[in-house]
Amino acid sequence: MFVVMTVGASEAEVLGVKSHILGEGMTPFDHVGPERIVIAVVGELGARKQELATRLATLAGVETVTPISRPFKLTSREFHPEDTVIRVLDAVIGDGSLTMMAGPCSVESRDQLFETADAVKAAGATVLRGGAFKPRTSPYAFQGLGVEALRYLAEARERTGLPVITEVMEPSQVDIVAEYADILQIGTRNMQNYSLLRDVGRVARPVMLKRGYGATVKEWLMAAEYIVSSGNPNVILCERGIRTFETYTRNTMDLAAVPLAHHLTHLPVIVDPSHATGKRWLVKPLALGGVAVGADGVMVEVHPTPDQALSDAEQQLDLAQFRDLMATLVPVHELVRGLHGDPVLTGPALGIGGSSGLSKH
Ligand code: PEP
Ligand code: MN
Repeated sequence: MFVVMTVGASEAEVLGVKSHILGEGMTPFDHVGPERIVIAVVGELGARKQELATRLATLAGVETVTPISRPFKLTSREFHPEDTVIRVLDAVIGDGSLTMMAGPCSVESRDQLFETADAVKAAGATVLRGGAFKPRTSPYAFQGLGVEALRYLAEARERTGLPVITEVMEPSQVDIVAEYADILQIGTRNMQNYSLLRDVGRVARPVMLKRGYGATVKEWLMAAEYIVSSGNPNVILCERGIRTFETYTRNTMDLAAVPLAHHLTHLPVIVDPSHATGKRWLVKPLALGGVAVGADGVMVEVHPTPDQALSDAEQQLDLAQFRDLMATLVPVHELVRGLHGDPVLTGPALGIGGSSGLSKH
């Protein structure tokens, strides 16, 4: 449930509500909206719910107490209707601009990273990607350069001014990756690694959470809830394809997940057509599709000589293909931005109390 404070509620009244919530063994999370403060009550309420709601409603400065119908609370639009906008260096994610995250699957050398970084920056990328710790299906495949790659990424940031994103695979790597990178990526295989989610929830870096390849949208948002409830509100969602019976593509890109996520949550949504398709020539059409359905940005793998790449050779674009992709995507994004309207109003009613069909799924 969340407590809606009156417009102009005093600091003391807000503190009073929070200490009451703490006294019940629950955790208060406040959201400062454009007009008023809303405080979510997070924790296992059980049978006390109604009684506590009635009590909170009588406190000074409280306007109403409202249930949150979704299992995800802090990430839901009900609690936080405005879009979350994330700023990292000069990049702004979720404000209606097109975020373009580009770079190699794996950082293979300083030269390979710098050549790619310079080219994607010149073409208009806003974030540089590059894998340092690689989750590989085979233990015999290239596992990434690790900390050496993190150093190259930091140098590439100095060189280009672009914020860098890289994957963190286990809790023991969180501090070192957060020291070098601007955005931490949680890969598809780790979407439900709850101790890792909690740990990235405690660092002062935005986190991009890739959807598990076997995860429902609800499970994905519950995973995001782990990060936000651990103290990190800056979460970016990334649809990177789910596993279906189709074998021509590496995964199946779930385009419906983009407007659906925008309806259910205030977090920005990025699409990754590289991992979703696994095929270079399918990256451009699916990137276009992602932008057309309202994605806040696109992540693509780019390599100076993709055929020689040490990982994901078949899906990486070369530098000219990335320039072509940008030239195509930017005008399409200009055309579609603003057409989607308010995600709260365009979907079915948010269903406070469970009246929405969406809440059943
Ligand atoms: C990646 O982006 O480098 C990656 C491994 O992606 P995913 O976790 O989506 O497979
Ligand atoms: Mn890859």
